[in-house]
Amino acid sequence: MNVPRMSEQSLGGQRVMIRLDLNVPLKNGAVASDTRIRATLPTIRMALEQNAAVILLSHLGRPTEGEYDEQFSLRPVALHLGELLDAPVRLVTDWLDGIDVSPGEVVLCENVRFNKGEKSNDETLSRQMADLCDVFVMDAFGTAHRAQASTHGVAQYAPVACAGPLLVSELEALNKAMAEPARPVVAIVGGSKVSTKLTVLDSLSDMVDQLIVGGGIANTFIAAAGHDVGESLYEADLVGDAKRMMLASAGAEIPVPEDVVVAVEVSESAPSQVRPVDQVESDELILDIGPKTAERYAEMLAAAGTIVWNGPVGVFEIDQFGGGTERIAHAVADSDAFSIAGGGDTLAALDKYGVTDRISYVSTGGGAFLEFLEGKTLPAVAMLEQRATG
Ligand code: ADP
Ligand code: MG
Repeated sequence: MNVPRMSEQSLGGQRVMIRLDLNVPLKNGAVASDTRIRATLPTIRMALEQNAAVILLSHLGRPTEGEYDEQFSLRPVALHLGELLDAPVRLVTDWLDGIDVSPGEVVLCENVRFNKGEKSNDETLSRQMADLCDVFVMDAFGTAHRAQASTHGVAQYAPVACAGPLLVSELEALNKAMAEPARPVVAIVGGSKVSTKLTVLDSLSDMVDQLIVGGGIANTFIAAAGHDVGESLYEADLVGDAKRMMLASAGAEIPVPEDVVVAVEVSESAPSQVRPVDQVESDELILDIGPKTAERYAEMLAAAGTIVWNGPVGVFEIDQFGGGTERIAHAVADSDAFSIAGGGDTLAALDKYGVTDRISYVSTGGGAFLEFLEGKTLPAVAMLEQRATG
């Protein structure tokens, strides 16, 4: 990974523009969870300690491009950030034509997605942003898979462009897991649909030693193995792809669950039953892996050198369908393997089962994490690499 780093730049007196991920949940006009804001503090302090003039950029939600919309304003974030930094953070509403900012000061530009051309990575908009700074720092891993004006275009035209410490630590952890991983490598891919993760499954099945599938994804593989999945969520049109992956001789071993947890509906009150995988009834849904299967997977995870996890293996939001995900979560936490996990619902599951702190690396990026696993170079990172080589 050859990207210029923020830590190598001299920032004193410079106008330093930092693209952060301050896309936090809001409730009644205030910040409801500030995990993402806290994560950015070391980066901002790194710039302030060198007496830089600090200009922060972020998106918030999905507003209509080209329109100001108060519910997507970063104003509550500016207030909250100011409290955490113990210094005022001025929100700048109209910022594209110039920003007044002095060394030692922090300003937050209003939502980048209010600007027309953000999503399309418009050159004029990107150049306008680049003109506002001496150094551009990309530090938002969660948006690094998008080539947009504030993540990619500005990095192309800024006098200097580099990676911030959060982005660097994400990339280092992911490279460690994927480039020369300790073997055996075990991947767990769960969640609802094969269709959203087909390319991830394909690339992981080429790379890892064992691929544990769970959730609705497993149902498609169970069907591919010739079993009746009843009313389960599965994708008939992808059974062929599942068969192909299971057969590929050079690819990963993809075990099929031997037992499953079923119910006749997805609800808090639905009684659950454990069944051998070949005895699912026509009115039943498979909502979790069974205890024998979970034990077998836990043994594979205990023996792993590297573990990559995306997607819960059952409908863990409801306790009677969460046993498989809970067992897997503890097995990953207990394993000596280098473990990485990512994905919105996966992170919620880690939290629910209290193991977040025992995973080697928890990725903050949902889509970006998946694209990295697919073996793609993230566009914003590719741009920084390009800047490194001239
Ligand atoms: P992530 O956000 O970690 O990438 P996904 O969004 O792909 O994960 O999948 C998570 C969702 O998959 C959860 O809401 C969970 O309830 C659902 N899910 C898991 N197992 C099943 C199943 N057997 N049938 C239907 N949905 C499932
Ligand atoms: Mg999800």
